[in-house]
Amino acid sequence: MEKRVSAESQIQQITAELAKRAQLRVSSLRREVAELEKALEEKKAALATAELGPARLERFQVKQGVDLMCPYCWMGHERHAILKPIGGGTRHEDFFRCSTCQQDVTVAI
Ligand SMILES: [Zn+2]
Repeated sequence: MEKRVSAESQIQQITAELAKRAQLRVSSLRREVAELEKALEEKKAALATAELGPARLERFQVKQGVDLMCPYCWMGHERHAILKPIGGGTRHEDFFRCSTCQQDVTVAI
């Protein structure tokens, strides 16, 4: 004769299975939360930098002595960095490269 499993026992089994599935998701969810928190911090830093834009623009000194200054270093990090001529210019353009961030800048002449 087949032994009947009580309703309570069956519900308990389903609950235990759900608990097991939840446990299996813990590590991947923790990793996702950590990645999202890191992305949020990066966005907050980018926002803070963007909000400083107008004030940085006002304080930018395009030249120090004879040297042209890198606009990318200034706007991104408020860092003074010299643009060095890299040659290869044409009759219409001069080419420069930042000594710090390596960004190329083309200037029409
Ligand atoms: Zn630079």
